[in-house]
Amino acid sequence: MIPSVLPTYNRAPLAFVEGKGSWLIAEDGSRYLDMGAGIAVNVLGHAAPELVDTISQQAAKLWHVSNLYRIPEQEALAKALTEATFADTVFFTNSGTEAMELAVKMARKYWYEHGDRSDIVAFHGAFHGRSSAAIAASGSEKMVKGFGPLLPGFVQVDFDDMASLEAITETTAAVVIEPAQGEGGIRVASDAFLKALRAKCDETGTLLIFDEVQCGMGRTGKLFAHEWAGVTPDIMMVAKGIGGGFPLGAVLATENAARGMVAGTHGSTYGGNPLGCAVGGRVMQIVSDPAFLAEVGRKASLFRQGLEGLVASHPGVFEAVRGQGLLLGLKCVKPAGDVVKAGYDQHILTVAAADNVIRLLPALNIPDEDIAEALARLDCAAATLA
Ligand code: PLP
Repeated sequence: MIPSVLPTYNRAPLAFVEGKGSWLIAEDGSRYLDMGAGIAVNVLGHAAPELVDTISQQAAKLWHVSNLYRIPEQEALAKALTEATFADTVFFTNSGTEAMELAVKMARKYWYEHGDRSDIVAFHGAFHGRSSAAIAASGSEKMVKGFGPLLPGFVQVDFDDMASLEAITETTAAVVIEPAQGEGGIRVASDAFLKALRAKCDETGTLLIFDEVQCGMGRTGKLFAHEWAGVTPDIMMVAKGIGGGFPLGAVLATENAARGMVAGTHGSTYGGNPLGCAVGGRVMQIVSDPAFLAEVGRKASLFRQGLEGLVASHPGVFEAVRGQGLLLGLKCVKPAGDVVKAGYDQHILTVAAADNVIRLLPALNIPDEDIAEALARLDCAAATLA
């Protein structure tokens, strides 16, 4: 245990002091290839020059003012997000968990004013954060045990299973789903399921909430993952990649879904501060560029092809490739934790997920040569386990 730090994390015995692009430099000066990117956070890599420039300029001007006042950087980012999506309105948070809290509050407030529904349908394997609402939504024993009584009103049904739609009725306030589950093991919902889910929500008047905290912001090759299915939510949670490494999150919503959230119903001291929103604005400008997204798709195909090769050459270690775009997973035969550790020995960082999967979530602008290097290091790691 590290003295003084609450021991809630299973930490690897590694500490990094510097980063550049896809690489992290450890205390002893050795270099690690980062295929986790802070769990889908550092979308432009470490110390991206554009973001260093933006944050330095903003830091010299203004870091924080209260939401008692207008914040032009916040208004600009909200404009960019609403112009690029289904949404009419945005609330800024500092994390994905806070975005989940607001999404739940927003849905319940809507129904408080429109007919008194409060039940929320969520999915097995989901991860929406660690707040009381988020753990109640996930329902997983690992997350809720010892933290009762739980926030009531949540049920969980099977992910990407048409039979689950039966749980959505005219008493359901909202459905919350990750279009592609991250922590749950890189499980991508089919377009057909998301379309049927939207239709069922329309039929029952239920609000549809997409959690794009991990799969959004260009990760799948579209700005938001739900775009692949051609459906839109009523409310969407975003975080991680939106700040490129600066703590920033957001809830996007239609005017209708958000109509209960009037002055005084929600707030945040830091949410939407000038520093975070300046960085978020620059990230948004870069990532929403169609040419950038096309490159994510090209890099993803290259990486995926290489990963398929690794599965073929190490059938005793890897079983299959999963995912969409640069939200990639390797379903393992060996325990995923052992594969991650074998990666550390080869100086490559991957992230374990549920369902015995390791995640590969590199910077979205990862150079092709770093993809080749990652494949070579994973090949070596697998050889040590075979
Ligand atoms: N939702 C999803 C899909 C996530 O992957 C996460 C974090 O991993 C969260 C919500 C919670 O976000 P945060 O850790 O920023 O609170």
